[in-house]
Amino acid sequence: MIHTPETDKAFKKQIKESLEKDFMRKTLTNFSVAYRQSRANAFSGMDLEGMRGDIACMKDAGIPNLPELFDEFKKNAEAAGTIIHVARDGEEANRIIAQIAKENGVKSIVKSKSMTAEETFLNDHLEKDGYEVVETDLGEWIIQMRHEGPSHMVMPAIHLSRYQVGELFSDVTAKKQDPEDIEGLVKVARKELRPKFIGADMGVSGGNFAIADSGAIGLVTNEGNARLTTTLPKVHVALMGFDKLVPDVSAAMKILKILPRNATGQALTSYVTWIKGTNECAPGPEGRKVQHIIFLDNGRLELAKDPIFAEVLRCIRCGACANVCPIYRMVGGHTFGHVYIGAIGLILTTFFHGKDKARGIVKCCLNCQSCKGVCPSKIDLPYLIKNVYAQVQEEDGGKPLKTRLTSLLLKNRRLFHTTMKAAAKMQGPATDGPYVRHLPNFLMGDHNFRRLPAIADRSLRDDWKQVKPKVKNPKLKVALFGGCATDFIYPEQGKAFAKLCETFNIAVDYPMDQSCCGLPTMMMAQMDTAKDIAGQNVKAFSAGNYDYIVTLCASCGSHIKENFPKLLTKNGAVPKNVQAFSDKLIDFSSFMNDVVKVKGEDFMNLGRKVTYHYPCHLVRGLEVTEAPMALLEKAGVDYKESNECQVCCGFSGSFSVDFPMISKNMLAHKLDNAEATGATTLVTDCPGCVLQLRGGAEQRGMNLTVKHMAEVLLEEKK
Ligand code: SF4
Ligand code: SF4
Repeated sequence: MIHTPETDKAFKKQIKESLEKDFMRKTLTNFSVAYRQSRANAFSGMDLEGMRGDIACMKDAGIPNLPELFDEFKKNAEAAGTIIHVARDGEEANRIIAQIAKENGVKSIVKSKSMTAEETFLNDHLEKDGYEVVETDLGEWIIQMRHEGPSHMVMPAIHLSRYQVGELFSDVTAKKQDPEDIEGLVKVARKELRPKFIGADMGVSGGNFAIADSGAIGLVTNEGNARLTTTLPKVHVALMGFDKLVPDVSAAMKILKILPRNATGQALTSYVTWIKGTNECAPGPEGRKVQHIIFLDNGRLELAKDPIFAEVLRCIRCGACANVCPIYRMVGGHTFGHVYIGAIGLILTTFFHGKDKARGIVKCCLNCQSCKGVCPSKIDLPYLIKNVYAQVQEEDGGKPLKTRLTSLLLKNRRLFHTTMKAAAKMQGPATDGPYVRHLPNFLMGDHNFRRLPAIADRSLRDDWKQVKPKVKNPKLKVALFGGCATDFIYPEQGKAFAKLCETFNIAVDYPMDQSCCGLPTMMMAQMDTAKDIAGQNVKAFSAGNYDYIVTLCASCGSHIKENFPKLLTKNGAVPKNVQAFSDKLIDFSSFMNDVVKVKGEDFMNLGRKVTYHYPCHLVRGLEVTEAPMALLEKAGVDYKESNECQVCCGFSGSFSVDFPMISKNMLAHKLDNAEATGATTLVTDCPGCVLQLRGGAEQRGMNLTVKHMAEVLLEEKK
């Protein structure tokens, strides 16, 4: 039974409960760390980017033609003796399967793992009709006996310990089982399941591929249970989504090459089963097996026509978007999903199970881009999640007051900047040096895990005339895109950039009409406001003929590069000025290292002990990894790499306010890892990460100074 909270309050309560499950958190964290390494090993020496591009292209070519692919599949499968059905929704799919069971005098059913059957809640339906249904995948069997849904799409029982499984198996066998003896536990399952396979009248499976030009289906499994399920009983029923249709076996092979590697870091799965038509089978009617394939629509054919969401049908259900998600590993799949888990689950839940099931989870995304970075089909999951969130709000009849006010403020640059300046003047008694003195009492509990910065007395724009580099015959002319944090909270970072540029003879402009990049509004799913603000910024920089537009904020940079073109697309094309703006955008570290080409002799080599945190939007958004390392090496620091230095720090703007309990845990993990390096300076390339990490280190009283790379380079500059 799946219990997905339908209100914010219930969802947050469930998050808190999940965070208390220490064993689950530890297991998922260990898995996430090990997964990254095994995935890297599994793809070693392969052109992973090329393979991902191939799958995305192949899927995109098929999505608009699913009805045609289906017709071709049906013709070929029927010629081989298979009976084909179409189910408009889960209810209809379940009814068809129950009817097949009735017509064939079925009493007992074995099932191999199928997310599509989870989607339709098939087991519940068949059991209500009086059939005995037994899951035969080990993980699925375990959760079936516990009356739970899967907590991962590939490893459904990953949330359970061997002790919980040992206890369960002791109950099943009425005999004490040793939880330390994993092999023994597997033997118990084998012994219990064998007679079920042999006695079953019907086997129900899913399917990874439906191959149009042959009418064959393919199943990928690790335990061999799908083979027994599909071959031993006299009736085989496969339930598949329309999205599993591929044109031919070479398309299936492309997916097969990437699927196990991406799912679990395995080079191969143990079993790949291809089935075409019906074969001889002694107990079947006329000595032949009965085979039915049911294609489930459940909104897929409409999705295929959607200009924004069609790409979700590229999904090959590898589960990797959960493996790398920092939220999934904290709270597990029973909280971070409904039936489908992880990033793809946040999207599919709305379309397959309705907005009531999606309302809580869909706003719980850091936009950290980890899922997008590993998706073998190159689905822009974070962007689609925000679009789903926007839809849910729309259907709920409007945006919350907080969202509307923030939108109004950020859309009006003058009002926003005047408000910031007024707040800077009025905050006096509430500040304690560079920090806010303390939070109001009602926020003290959950939110008190970091110190918050005060607004700077004078913003970067206030001082720009004095700060602007004074250079003659500059070798480059650039503009600085400040973003809210550099402008109003940490102007010293912008000043450090200006000073560095002056020493390297680079002219810098700070166009005064620039504003917030709009990412916070996108995080709140205010797509129209995000679009409006993007347009204002493009206009603000259009007058200057800049060689580059540099930003010190990786989040602004990634949003401008990735999302501005999407948001401002007109009639299917990106306007030239938008593309030019996005093309000229460069992050600080890449600019200094790759464009300015700073050298080791430019720096004093003070040899301080430094560790580095990769901002999500630098490493995954902008795909920059080498420039910061090169700069630190040139600056001569004593670099100490911290564990999981590319994992999110848990800030993500309004996320850390809405979900402080998750943000707090992620920050703690990050700071523990930084502390373990023995470094005294933590460097990063995003003011948002500085805010989170510096505030956390200060709250903990750590001997760790958190700085932006621009500040460190200036301090190290000769
Ligand atoms: S963007 Fe990050 S937090 Fe959001 S679903 Fe993807 S991995 Fe999870
Ligand atoms: S969205 Fe991508 S990463 Fe997630 S399950 Fe689907 S294919 Fe795998």
